[in-house]
Amino acid sequence: MDANTYDVIVIGAGPVGENVADRVVQGGLSAAVVERELVGGECSYWACMPTKALLRSAAALRAARQVPGAREAVTGGLDVAAVLRRRDSFSSHWEDDGQASWLSSAGIALYRGQGRISSDKVVEVTGEDGAMRSLTARHAVVIATGSAALLPDIPGLRAATPWSSREAAAATSVPARLAVIGGGVVASEMAAVFSGLGSSVTVLARDGVLPLAEPFAGERVTESLREAGVRVLLGAEAGSVQRGGDGVVRITLTSGEQVEADELLVAIGRTPNTREIGLDIVGLAPGAWLTVDDTLRVVGDDGELLADGWLYAAGDVNRRVLLTHQGKYQARAVGDVIVARAKGEAIEDSPWGRHVATADERAVPQVVFTEPEIASVGLTAAAAGAAGLRIRVVDYDLGAVAGSALHADGFAGHARMVVDEDRKVVVGFTLVGPDVAELLHAATIAIVGEVPLDRLWHAVPAFPTISEVWLRLLEAYGR
Ligand SMILES: Cc1cc2nc3c(=O)[nH]c(=O)nc-3n(C[C@H](O)[C@H](O)[C@H](O)COP(=O)(O)OP(=O)(O)OC[C@H]3O[C@@H](n4cnc5c(N)ncnc54)[C@H](O)[C@@H]3O)c2cc1C
Repeated sequence: MDANTYDVIVIGAGPVGENVADRVVQGGLSAAVVERELVGGECSYWACMPTKALLRSAAALRAARQVPGAREAVTGGLDVAAVLRRRDSFSSHWEDDGQASWLSSAGIALYRGQGRISSDKVVEVTGEDGAMRSLTARHAVVIATGSAALLPDIPGLRAATPWSSREAAAATSVPARLAVIGGGVVASEMAAVFSGLGSSVTVLARDGVLPLAEPFAGERVTESLREAGVRVLLGAEAGSVQRGGDGVVRITLTSGEQVEADELLVAIGRTPNTREIGLDIVGLAPGAWLTVDDTLRVVGDDGELLADGWLYAAGDVNRRVLLTHQGKYQARAVGDVIVARAKGEAIEDSPWGRHVATADERAVPQVVFTEPEIASVGLTAAAAGAAGLRIRVVDYDLGAVAGSALHADGFAGHARMVVDEDRKVVVGFTLVGPDVAELLHAATIAIVGEVPLDRLWHAVPAFPTISEVWLRLLEAYGR
């Protein structure tokens, strides 16, 4: 066998690329992954893991302070150095030996370097030393190159050396003043992190806070950031930026107001890592988000299959859902469908079939780890309405549930269930409150399983848990 030929070649060893390769090997094919930075990708070193580690200590402290008896035992504030050390450990100290040896134990070949498609099913890998080697795929090439932070064209911004989410997640010290451009998930979580660590934070949220969530979620997070001392400027747009000789960043808003900070974080969205991967070979423009068909094969703008169907794209790079768990779900579908096609097996591509990622459109769970946490899945009321569904929205005060009051004094929260009235099933669910993240999976199961409300009535929540909100919502609906 030619040492440079594999059944499947995956470009990018983030969480998605790793999982595609693993699934392929478990299906009996051979796989190689190409990685130019760290095996484990953005999620392990600069995104999910470090940010959640940074948020967790403040959340634990808050939880202790909300329960008498525990509260009295808390005699100090956060130990910032210990928080940063714990983050370092959850980021594996930015070393990937652990994940690289997992690849090897899973029977996956790793090539370090920049991967680029150079012709049909051929990927060129350029190592750090400039050495190049060609890998050939028998069946498929999978692009799992992920995304990077987007920097807008604001005059002076680049020269002011702003932080992206990477610098924020890996920060070794806490700036006295931090300004944040953006109001989405990353901006909100980072504002909570740095405010908790002692920075004086200003958020410039042109489009509001968490604009894609149910409105009450963004409102509650805005309120709580403000209660924590964060300046949240809704509708504020940065017009220009300048870092002075004194190191201070001055952001002039389009309103004329000026905001000063020691560091500036830009968190306004992502751009695909597709600039240097040889997209021109298959007739696509470098730098584009990739569009895929049901089984995640790359298609052109007209929806026509490209590259005779040997090219797939999974994870952030196809822009379907920019979340690790959803990318890994796509990875399982891609790995399995490549194996099925290679073996001439039937393709299960009807909705909810094994080879398609149906949940990407109907049931994406997401947690925003702010205080309070926002946990949501499926459609918001606005999105369901826009999709033409005949819906009924049921709201309940989460703080009024017995389990919530026991969980923490002063527990404040809210729950919303969006019901498709024609099918009598839940299509959307949002929870806002402390520690609600772990409640989310029940809602995901209800939506994916399309469990009729009549049957959901028989799923009795244990007393006294916060999950009793399910019973209260069904009663409010009219059971
Ligand atoms: C601050 C922040 C916090 C987040 N928190 C969460 C969270 O809590 N939960 C969650 O689910 N999601 C979270 N996300 C999103 C999550 O990080 C991404 O959805 C996930 O990392 C996408 O995985 P991926 O494998 O598609 O891409 P990536 O993780 O970006 O991995 C792609 C890999 O491909 C490599 N690569 C790129 N181009 C090439 C090339 N040409 N040749 C070789 N290698 C290449 C890169 O070096 C990288 O290792 C967060 C994102 C950010 C920015």
